[in-house]
Amino acid sequence: MGHGDHRHGDDEHEHPHGHHAHEQEHEHGELGLMDLRVRALETVLAEKGYIDPAALDALIETYEKRIGPRNGARVVARAWIDGSFRRWLLEDATAAIASLGYSGRQGEHMVAVPNTAREHNVVVCTLCSCYPWPVLGLPPTWYKSAPYRARVVREPRAVLAEFGLELPAGTAIRVWDSTAEVRYLVLPERPPGTEGLDEEALAAWVTRDSMIGTGLPRPPQGP
Ligand code: FE
Repeated sequence: MGHGDHRHGDDEHEHPHGHHAHEQEHEHGELGLMDLRVRALETVLAEKGYIDPAALDALIETYEKRIGPRNGARVVARAWIDGSFRRWLLEDATAAIASLGYSGRQGEHMVAVPNTAREHNVVVCTLCSCYPWPVLGLPPTWYKSAPYRARVVREPRAVLAEFGLELPAGTAIRVWDSTAEVRYLVLPERPPGTEGLDEEALAAWVTRDSMIGTGLPRPPQGP
């Protein structure tokens, strides 16, 4: 399956039906049941005083924002400093990413899409919430929300502006629709002011949203 099959411009949008029909029947049924079971378990445990829902939220947030996306950040930082790794990532993201130790469920068929001055990439799953778990961890709530999934395709520039990302008028926005088979990772541009930083310091600039396309890399925040 080539790049072009999942490529969508600003205006036109098609969904590769077959993959999603399959995914909805299987994966999503399971996830729905899993959600219900988790919710039931959480309620019982909280009622009995075994867990503190706030502590649980903090734990989930840690996985959403810190641990998970750090894997992707290391991939991006490596691509910024190592030209041959960058070429490998753009040619065969699954293999390049696996070489750093990140592989597994929901990351079997990765495609990396590079931002340039002329083109900005943003990732969505229009029908559900396909997301590259091994490099980004758990999807944020907004990624799974119906408004994001519907609107980012129709009016990507407006949606990105709501995330605080105002792109120059001359930068085209390309929206990539994830499927059960292909998961996208945005390769943001290395920001100015990062010359001389080593890989680890660079990785600290890479935010989760910059790898979804709803943000840009930024200087690391304090602890
Ligand atoms: Fe999906």
